[in-house]
Amino acid sequence: MSDSMQQSPEVIYALAISYLQGDGVPADSERAAELFEKAAAMDYLPAVRDLGILYLNGDGVPKDEAKAYELINKAAVKMDPNAIYHLALMYENGVGVKKDLYQALKLMAFCAAANYTGSVEDADRIEDEIDAARNKYLNARPMVNLDLSEVDIEACCCKRMLDAVKNKDISMDMTYKGPALFGADDDGNEIVLDKCPFCGAVPRIVPHDKVY
Ligand SMILES: [Zn+2]
Repeated sequence: MSDSMQQSPEVIYALAISYLQGDGVPADSERAAELFEKAAAMDYLPAVRDLGILYLNGDGVPKDEAKAYELINKAAVKMDPNAIYHLALMYENGVGVKKDLYQALKLMAFCAAANYTGSVEDADRIEDEIDAARNKYLNARPMVNLDLSEVDIEACCCKRMLDAVKNKDISMDMTYKGPALFGADDDGNEIVLDKCPFCGAVPRIVPHDKVY
């Protein structure tokens, strides 16, 4: 190929992968990073994502989590499952972005729906982390109001409601009217609860107050 001919980003990307894996050439992650950079400059998304992963790990480039987030997020918004998977882990661990388990779970659930390898187990783990943090948070709230936010139940009114919420017998979900409480009737059908079935407290809508 003559110098005047522009190589396609696919070709540059494939060469970068060869350098990254030492496949037919000596492994050289710095060279791989340079080539990813070149293909990324042509807006080739797999290269944008993989360059981000190199910045995430400090592999072939100086470690830079903010830069990693910027690049991986750029590929993720174009619905690249591999990028979304890495982004979910960054939200889970607060790497390059503020830790946000809800956002991590949302992204990981998307990967799980796309059958991305390992993502089902990862989504389960994030959900467990959310449950643990949520129960700890709810236990620390004063039991005077039944507070719902657009994200979750923020505070319970009585001990029995707290237990039902922790057991997930009663949950919060968004409806077209806003956040609402859901439970089950005697036949196990899901119903909207307009008040606490134990003490009669009426839910109030409050701003999201959780930080975890
Ligand atoms: Zn109650």
